[in-house]
Amino acid sequence: MNVPAAQLEEWDKEYVWHPFTQMKAYRKEKPLIVERGEGSYLFDIEGNRYLDGVSSLWVTVHGHNNGELNKAIKGQLERVAHSTLLGLANVPSILLAKRLVEITPGGLNKVFYSDSGATSVEIALKMAYQYWRQQGNEENRNKRKFISLVEAYHGDTIGSVSVGGMDLFHSTFKDLLFETVHAPAPYCYRCYLGKQRGGCRLECMDEVEKIVQRHHQEVAGFIIEPLVQGAAGMLVAPEGYLSGVSRLCKQYNILLIADEVAVGFGRTGKMFACGQEEIEPDILCLAKGITGGYLPLAVTMTTDRVYNAFLGEIEEFKTFYHGHTYTGNPLACAAALASLELMEKNNFMGRLREKIAFITERLKHFYSLEHVGDIRQRGMMIGIELVLDRATKEPYPPGADLGHRVILEARKNGVIIRPLGNVIVLMPVLSMGMPELEELLNVTYNAIKSITED
Ligand code: PMP
Repeated sequence: MNVPAAQLEEWDKEYVWHPFTQMKAYRKEKPLIVERGEGSYLFDIEGNRYLDGVSSLWVTVHGHNNGELNKAIKGQLERVAHSTLLGLANVPSILLAKRLVEITPGGLNKVFYSDSGATSVEIALKMAYQYWRQQGNEENRNKRKFISLVEAYHGDTIGSVSVGGMDLFHSTFKDLLFETVHAPAPYCYRCYLGKQRGGCRLECMDEVEKIVQRHHQEVAGFIIEPLVQGAAGMLVAPEGYLSGVSRLCKQYNILLIADEVAVGFGRTGKMFACGQEEIEPDILCLAKGITGGYLPLAVTMTTDRVYNAFLGEIEEFKTFYHGHTYTGNPLACAAALASLELMEKNNFMGRLREKIAFITERLKHFYSLEHVGDIRQRGMMIGIELVLDRATKEPYPPGADLGHRVILEARKNGVIIRPLGNVIVLMPVLSMGMPELEELLNVTYNAIKSITED
């Protein structure tokens, strides 16, 4: 069907309700309709080329339209497109589970499949809750709450919103949510204890410890986005924060749930963020980059300790009654296997570390812009927080719509990025080459300059 561009634009506004989007504003702008992709670039229906500066939605690992990934998906398509895991098994889901157990932090020996980051979190919460209910010890059966961080984002289903901590996204639904204990977020630029990044001894951990001490008897799990709270604006935790939380969980008999939906699969410069501080969570959530960004897939991985608590006779009701129709989809699992294979070839991780160092160096230059308040980077995750006044850290008012104006300016110059409020987010495709990274940083710099000086 060859539909003219103008017609598609009209139908997009007429029929499609876009996520996280104020449609009144969206309908006033010309939509960018993507037609195809090639490597680090996307092309719209008018043939314009854009550098993909946010990896679609933080997912793309080896670039768009990658021959190897296409081949793996097509190969599987010619065998079977879908087959259920309810009562049956399929080849790619078995091979992928084995591979994931081999490469994830120690002890995570079991893989439960689903289709999105939110479902992987939902499963983790239900698993942790049911785990404690099935303990012999009466006291442990009371462990039914969760601790999460203020500013946390774990997805948009009711369970994952319950452990979320972002007022803008979550407060509307508060009457529908279960009670969660929130610990303060390590937002070092605006440290609530008035400390400076690098100039503290992690006093914020003392507060986390107090909260854990107070609630541990009723807490099933502590859920955390390891190293970087992405949706909150790329809040990079100080070194030792993650391992501190892990230590507390062990000490107080709480399951640690690591939500690596955004940070997993190389984003922070190591395969998994937990590996950066050598921690071993009890439950690990993975999605986004798992298929290289090609098909929807997620996993919730856990230890033998958790898994074994679910073994029993039917009448003991220990079965985990949870599952989705497309769970363990063979096409998505085949894509994931191919993506992992590519990550092991051609010194992929070594080259990634070189790119990260290059970005770190180039980002320093951004401080020459008066309204750049804070630059946060962990690996290939970057957040540039723009402020009205650098001395007082006064934020721009929401009505200024600054982040959005900056990304539209970048788009005019051939780069797609997406803001989180007044934080400009860069999430380069992991396979991007140095010249493309340079283009991304230059266009972003100029867009910030032009809008903030306006
Ligand atoms: N957890 C984290 C840390 C995320 O960043 C996201 C998505 N940005 C999710 C969960 C939800 O993933 P999905 O959008 O695939 O449901």
